[in-house]
Order: sequence, then structure tokens, then C-alpha cells
Amino acid sequence: MARASLDIDLSAICANWRALDAMSGPQTRTAATIKADAYGLGAAKAAPALMDAGVRAFFVAIAEEGATLRRIVGPEPRIHVYSGHMAGDAGLIRGAQLIPMLNSIEQMTRHFETLPGHPFGVQLDSGMNRLGMEAGEWGAVAALALEQSPVLVMSHLACSDEPDHPMNARQLAEFRHLTDGINVPRSLGATGAVLLGPEYHFDMTRPGIGLYGGRPFDDARPVVRLSLPVIQTRALEPGETVGYGNTFTAPEPMWLATVSAGYADGVLRALSGKPMLYQGDTACPLVGRVSMDLLTVDISALEDCPRVLDLICPAQGIDDLADMAGTIGYEILTALGPRYLRSYAGEAAA
Ligand SMILES: *Cc1c(COP(=O)(O)O)cnc(C)c1O
Repeated sequence: MARASLDIDLSAICANWRALDAMSGPQTRTAATIKADAYGLGAAKAAPALMDAGVRAFFVAIAEEGATLRRIVGPEPRIHVYSGHMAGDAGLIRGAQLIPMLNSIEQMTRHFETLPGHPFGVQLDSGMNRLGMEAGEWGAVAALALEQSPVLVMSHLACSDEPDHPMNARQLAEFRHLTDGINVPRSLGATGAVLLGPEYHFDMTRPGIGLYGGRPFDDARPVVRLSLPVIQTRALEPGETVGYGNTFTAPEPMWLATVSAGYADGVLRALSGKPMLYQGDTACPLVGRVSMDLLTVDISALEDCPRVLDLICPAQGIDDLADMAGTIGYEILTALGPRYLRSYAGEAAA
């Protein structure tokens, strides 16, 4: 195997969706958030697999992603766009039959003027101060908006990965205050909200990271394995140094492998000297700095020269790497680079 390979388990993605779907009652539909090319894993493969599992509604970040997704999934599923109706997007929204989640009075005006009668949803700000209409704006246009029958009213939680955070209850109360009594389906939550319990589920949930095997869905099945080919090996004498900046010095005779992947592939440079690479159950420490295209690994524990070493595998998941780099699993996934050969297992028969 000459290329680094990223193995993506579609049946695990589907199993994770089913498990999250089973956590809410039958009156709650479970959508799938598939923005950023399914968190870097490939929407062209993940979306059809999720449809086979039962997904009928998707969420993406921007209209361009929605148009691409429409070509993949065909005319049936709903595709919602979190960024709403941005200037210049009317053609894409109409052509791909997207549902913009309108975030402001400006977007609402634009939508009603350029695409009258075209389906839309509304995003409300319940305290995160990122996207959505504020209470005052919503108060001013709610009647007008409701007259046009939005397909969904949603908001988003800032702290749903921390179940005990008081912000969750505050945002729930604010969302109820803004939407109780309206006759429109409602959605408040992502993966974290599914786990928070029934009062956070409303009519639709929109998990993303949990599908792809990340926290806060601790019971998720792992979805990715990253296997990196060894380019060469060498013996080191005690006192020899490795890589840029001489940050590692061999304390004793050791055997070193140079592996094909680096920060240009999403192996964050902040991981320098931290993770292990695995051959089966045997852990081999990454030593020295992560370079753009290369990693150096202490393989003294191995008996034979390895052909490949795994950086992401059951023994070391995306959240383990995230903790080492001071980031989150979402960033580890979306940083996975274009040079990997992506291969998919568990694909539904076409
Ligand atoms: C990304 C996103 C989601 C999905 O969040 P996860 O934490 O990945 O489940 C849901 N809603 C909004 C508004 C988002 O931006």
C-alpha cells in the first residue's frame, strides 16, 4: 500500500444514527447534519447510506453544500441550510430545492422577495449569539413569518456537550418562550441535545458528530481508521536526534520508522511527540516534530519492519487525538486531508 488510507465504516455511521434515533420518541424525527462534506468523511458515501438507514432530512452549512448534496440524494429528502438565504443564493436554493433557515429580518425579506412561496425555516437565537433572529426581531416578524408557513423553527445549544451546564436549561426556557403555541415543527438540538433527554428533542433532532463516532456520544461506534505507510526505517545510536528542531534525542539504541503523513494531511503539528502509532496492539510512540508530510516513530517494540502503522484505530480514537492536541474530535475529523485514499466499508448494495 503506497498511500495513506482512511477507512470509513458506513455501517457504523448508520448504527450510530439508529442508536441516536432510538433515544427519542416516535414523535421526534432524527435528521442528519452532514455539513463540511459529512465532517470530512465524504457526503457522497455517507448520505446514501444514511438514507438507507431511514434519514429523510439533512442539514448543511451553506447553499453550495446543499446543491452538491441534492445531486447525491435525489429529489426526496429535505435539505436545510443553516446559514439561511444569503445574497446571491436564490438560484441555488430554488434549483436544488433547499430549505434556508432564515436568520434575520434581512434574510426573510430577501427570501420573500426573490423566492415567494419557496419553503423556508426560521432560526432563532436562544442565547448562543451566533446565528438566528433575536427575540426582538422575532417578535416583530413572527406573525408575518408564520403566515407563510415555515417548515421548521430551530435554535442551537451552546453547551449541550456539558449536561450539567446551566446554559442548557436557560436556552430551553428561552426557546419555549419564543415558540410555545406556534403550530410549526420545532428543533433545538444536535448530538448533545439528543443525550440531554426528551424535553430537548421537540419534533426534530439534527445530530452530526455522534454519527461520525465522536463525543459527546460516548457509546458511538468508531467510524474511522487511519493507516499510514512506512517509507523507511533506520537504526539510531544513543544521542542521535530526530527531525526539525532536534526536539527528540535517542536515549538508547532504537529503531525508527518514517511514515507518510503530516500536518498537511491533518495530523496537527500540536500532536508532536504525543500520540502512539499502532501495529495491532503494539503502541509505538511518535517522536520528534510532525512535519508537513512525514512522521517519525519509535518502532523499537516491533519485531518486524511494519508496512503500515495506524494513527486512528480502536486503541486511539479521534477524541484521544483531540485531547492530546488541545482541540475537539470535530476538528480532527474535518482536518483529515485530501491525500488519503478513502475507502468505505459497509456500503449498502446499490
Ligand atoms: C453543526 C451543527 C449541528 C450538529 O452538531 P453536532 O454537535 O455535530 O451534533 C446542529 N445544529 C447546528 C446549528 C450546527 O451548526
